[in-house]
This record gives sequence, C-alpha cells and structure tokens, in this order.
Amino acid sequence: MSESQSPINIESNDKPHEACGIVGAFVPGESIARTTFFGLFALQHRGQESAGIATSTGDRIHLKAQMGLVSQVFREETMAGLPGHLGIGHTRYSTMGGSKEYNAQPLLANGPRGQIAVGHNGNVINAAELRIEMAEEYGSVFDKTSDTEVIAEIYAKAPGSDWFEVSAYAMRRLKGAYSLVIMTKDQLIAVRDPLGIRPLCLGKLNGGWIVASETAALDNLGAEFVRELGHGETVVIDKDGVKSKIWSGTRSNHAMCVFEQIYFARPDSLLNGELAYETRKRLGAEVYREHPVDADIVVGIPDSSTPHAVGLAAAAKIPYTEAIIRNRYVGRTFIQPDQKSRSEGVQTKFNPMRGVIEGKRLLVVDDSIVRSTTITQVVKMLRRAGAKEIHVRVASPPIKSTCHFGVDMATLGQLIAANMTVEEIRDYIGADSLAYLSVEGLLRAVRAPDNAYCTGCFTGNYPIPVQLEMNKLGFEVAPGV
Ligand code: SF4
Repeated sequence: MSESQSPINIESNDKPHEACGIVGAFVPGESIARTTFFGLFALQHRGQESAGIATSTGDRIHLKAQMGLVSQVFREETMAGLPGHLGIGHTRYSTMGGSKEYNAQPLLANGPRGQIAVGHNGNVINAAELRIEMAEEYGSVFDKTSDTEVIAEIYAKAPGSDWFEVSAYAMRRLKGAYSLVIMTKDQLIAVRDPLGIRPLCLGKLNGGWIVASETAALDNLGAEFVRELGHGETVVIDKDGVKSKIWSGTRSNHAMCVFEQIYFARPDSLLNGELAYETRKRLGAEVYREHPVDADIVVGIPDSSTPHAVGLAAAAKIPYTEAIIRNRYVGRTFIQPDQKSRSEGVQTKFNPMRGVIEGKRLLVVDDSIVRSTTITQVVKMLRRAGAKEIHVRVASPPIKSTCHFGVDMATLGQLIAANMTVEEIRDYIGADSLAYLSVEGLLRAVRAPDNAYCTGCFTGNYPIPVQLEMNKLGFEVAPGV
C-alpha cells in the first residue's frame, strides 16, 4: 500500500507519550525547590507539556505550575518564591484532561486535614463516576478537567485518622494507574497503586528523603537509592522519619507497564531491581533469536533503540554500527517542515552516514512501532544513502490496542499494527524484511512471571476491565462546570 493510499493518520511524533514524572523531597535544611527542580529535570522525558513545584515552610504551601518544559517554567528568580525544605514536583504529558494551564500540576485541594498538593503519574479509569460521587457525597466542586483533580479531592476529603487510613479509602475507590506524591504543610506522602502500573522509588538525600518516578532522578541528585515502592504501598515522611504500609486489599499479583521496560523509562533507571538498559539488550537479543537474518551491520534508531540494537548485535555476532546521527536539538523548534520539504527529503531529526551505509545489508532495530511514521522515513533515508538491503526487527510485539493507564498511544485507527498485517506493514514501510518480537519473547526478556506486567496494548488483556475507546478530553468542558 502506498503512503498516499494509507488509511493511517500519520503524525510527526511516532512514539507513545509517557504521562508524567513526579518527585517529592523532605530534606531539613535544604532549599527544596532547587532539589525538586533537578529531580524533575532528570524526568523531563516523561512529560513536556507543563511543569510545577509546590513547597512548604511548615505553615503554608507555595505553588508554581505552568505550561512549558521544566527549564522554561523555573528560573533562578522563581526559586525565591518557593521556600521550604518540603516539596513535590510534576512534569506532565496529558492523558486525561486537555493540555491546559489549569491542569498543570501539582494541584491543590482542601479538606478537614487542611490543604494538600498532589502530583500524579498514571490514569484513573473510573474518574468520571468518582467526580459525580464526590460531588454528591462531599460537595466537591471540580474546576479542572483531569483525573488528578478527582484523586486530590479524595485524598483531601477522605475519612481517616492517619494517611494510611486515607490511602486505604482512596485505594478502595480509585481504579487504574496512580503513582502519587502528596504534601501537606509538614508531611510528604508517596503512593503506588495496588497494581504498581507506574514506577516510584525511594532514596536518601543529605539526611532527608526523596521519592521519584525513576531512580535516574535519584542518581542525578546524588541521592542514595533505597528501594522501589511496592504495589499498594503508602509511605509517609515527616520529621519523625519514614513510615510505610501496604494496603490490606492489595493482591499478590502486580502489573507494571511493560512499556516502561521497552521505551519509557530512562535506560539508566532501575525497574524491578534491574537496569532498563540490560532488559532492553535482552529484548533485542530475543527478537534476533526469533527472527534471524544475514546482514553486514546492526543499526539502532537513535537514541531509544540503541540498547536493543546493542543486545541484538551481540546475539547475532554482527557488528553494531552507528549509521544514523540524531540532531540533539530536535524538539526545540516550533517550525515543522511542510509536506513539500518532507517529500524532498528534509530531515530535521536524523542524518544517515552514507560512507557507513552504502552497499551494506542493514539490520535496523526499532524499540516499537506506533503509527510507523519514523520507521518509514528511516527506511527511505537509508535507501537514499545506498543501503543494499534493509531488514527491520522490532524489539516489542505489534501494538494492537490503546493504553488506558497513563500513556498516550494514538487512537486505534492510527495504530498501524491494529490495521495491517506484518507483511502489509513491511510493504508499507519499504523494508526487505520485517519481524516483531513475540509476546512470549517479550515476557522472557523482561523476566516475567517473577515480575508480572501489563501487556494490554500488545495483547488486549488489561489487568482490570477497561472501556475500549477512552476519550482523554472527556471532562473538557469549560472549567467551573
Ligand atoms: S496498555 Fe501498554 S502502555 Fe498501557 S500500561 Fe499496559 S503495557 Fe503499558
């Protein structure tokens, strides 16, 4: 099928978008806004739409949250308005609720225990029902359009004599994915949902404590990694130290998002106790074992597919070669090439090195294919650079379903593997051969079942029942409604 005949709605950014990154820190004597800023800076890949930090001096919460990258929202002069040694931070890509300033987090909510600020990574699938129930039961008024506002209302209003009882109440009511950082004026609370879908870890920093979506944020701050939070766990940090409890309703099986292993998390982060980089090498090796092919060099699509390509090359005993150079500043321009310049071959993102490619049989490794825009452009680009053969291996299975747990995947109609066979995709992207990793191979590489995973977007089997097509703008009516 030619590109012009394609039923797929091609968009320029062809990777699933992670929903959010969160950080929380309680470090007596420290200027926490700065710590939180650098923690968020390390998590920028998890969301680029808005950024926010809330801090406390012990008497009140200070907040700044607005649209933009972490480095655009926070300047040296902003830090002065965020005093205190307790803080939380958030960087957002919207999966429920529009990309609007009023949805920028942390969000504030009020209740009998005073004011709280909340940062959320994930997606709560029963938020619509809970909005109605909270309005009826507690008189809650919602003036934002994200599921996080519902979470903030529940944690602010829930009955309970301590945060563990509050969290137990919230876990009974919330369905879906939620890793949370919550702060009062003198306590930091971290929560990982009973399925453990999104990551969250705990570290020590300068006599205090820090929680973050990924361990790479701890490394960047010079913090000591303590452990990943368990599924269904609530951690409360204050001047008396750290207390923790697992919700009694938590089942033994958990369901971390397997896409964190494939693509989302930084390769230098630990997930389920192991570097994501090592897991990605196994994913590459596994797809080669399942679908071997002769080639002269192995090429990864930079940067996210590099570990998979390194692992595949080692398994195949074919040299791994850097053949495509990525423009490091791509993503910082607001001017996109028009259709004419695209068809003339203007590449903003990648530049192939003809001297490395010409006359060679290439084994090209991609970590995943969503719409196929990137791989199609890469194959064309490599052909123009003189490749003799192009064999594409994808280090994850075909994505056939959308995500309901905090990842913006494109719609079903945009997912190429939900609409074409592997052979049709091969023809469409213009490769000599194409093969994907099997679901069984994926589970072997990530070492399931010791560590259980959600594989919903590959298998259509989700850890909890979901409504099949979700509208992320479902609450997007005028604020105040
Ligand atoms: S559906 Fe896919 S992206 Fe979403 S949580 Fe499950 S594995 Fe992750």
